[in-house]
Amino acid sequence: MFLFSFKGESGLGKSTLINSLFLTDLYPERVIPGAAEKIERTVQIEASTVEIEERGVKLRLTVVDTPGYGDSGTSCFIPCGDCDCFCFSFKTIISYIDEQFERYLHDESGLNRRHIVDNRVHCCFYFISPFGHGLKPLDVAFMKAIHNKVNIVPVIAKADTLTLKERERLKKRILDEIEEHNIKIYHLPDAESDEDEDFKEQTRLLKASIPFSVVGSNQLIEAKGKKVRGRLYPWGVVEVENPEHNDFLKLRTMLITHMQDLQEVTQDLHYENFRSERLKRGGRKVENEDMNKDQILLEKEAELRRMQEMIARMQAQMQLQMQGGDGDSGALGHHV
Ligand code: GDP
Repeated sequence: MFLFSFKGESGLGKSTLINSLFLTDLYPERVIPGAAEKIERTVQIEASTVEIEERGVKLRLTVVDTPGYGDSGTSCFIPCGDCDCFCFSFKTIISYIDEQFERYLHDESGLNRRHIVDNRVHCCFYFISPFGHGLKPLDVAFMKAIHNKVNIVPVIAKADTLTLKERERLKKRILDEIEEHNIKIYHLPDAESDEDEDFKEQTRLLKASIPFSVVGSNQLIEAKGKKVRGRLYPWGVVEVENPEHNDFLKLRTMLITHMQDLQEVTQDLHYENFRSERLKRGGRKVENEDMNKDQILLEKEAELRRMQEMIARMQAQMQLQMQGGDGDSGALGHHV
């Protein structure tokens, strides 16, 4: 069992990409029909199972689609649970990841250790907006909050909205910011020296493409005499599975060729982190008061921002009143 999760702002194309990765009509032999459709946009975490077959090996993946959060302009940052706001999804996702570790730890120490169902989250595709100039503060805070718990694979969404030059610039910027903020993303291991040259080259290419810039689509379009999954524009078709158009195939290849490594890193690094944390607490669960420091900082920042906005609004109102006052006194002066 392998699990991965999607995260990022609402409307960045996460659901479309899930469909593009696992949709039935392009890969009828690889997918359980309709599984991807079960994943609906929701404030709750939804898990659905899809099956893909690669080189004769059936892989069962559980895809967890997470609630996306709104723009950083969202006014509600205090956990209310009523809306699809950042704070809600932030806590929901962290608790979800922890719960899966918790369950695994519990099963591991039980009697039936041979038949443990591994529901741990092995990978998180983190969607970054193509419209900004890099990472937003919320992206940084979120990635830092989960980077010791899960393998993060950063993905630039809607890559068809960027020219090649813009893509390269954005990729570099994101990588610089990831380094600057000490965010730990998933690093593809180098190919072993005894691997064949093609595999080594593929690994080099995959490494050089991070963050993957992807395009998703649910539509089959006629292009060059064949039906392809793509997006139709007045000037042509962006093909999802054309490596010259975007990194979709690279992302898919990475997921399939590195599935085992993603599982091993989860076991050896993230789960071990969790286990040793638990041991340090004498087996006590991670409670709310122990929530990540980054989150507390984030909530404080949000509060500060709200206050700054309030002050700005008050200043604008005062300025308006003063201007109004000037006008009045001018009129008065005229009468006098
Ligand atoms: P989610 O909220 O992140 O799950 O986003 P959706 O998958 O629902 O997509 C939101 C909108 O973006 C829809 O209108 C999609 O057709 C569109 N969309 C999805 N993927 C892409 C993409 O790769 N490029 C462009 N330009 N639009 C996309």
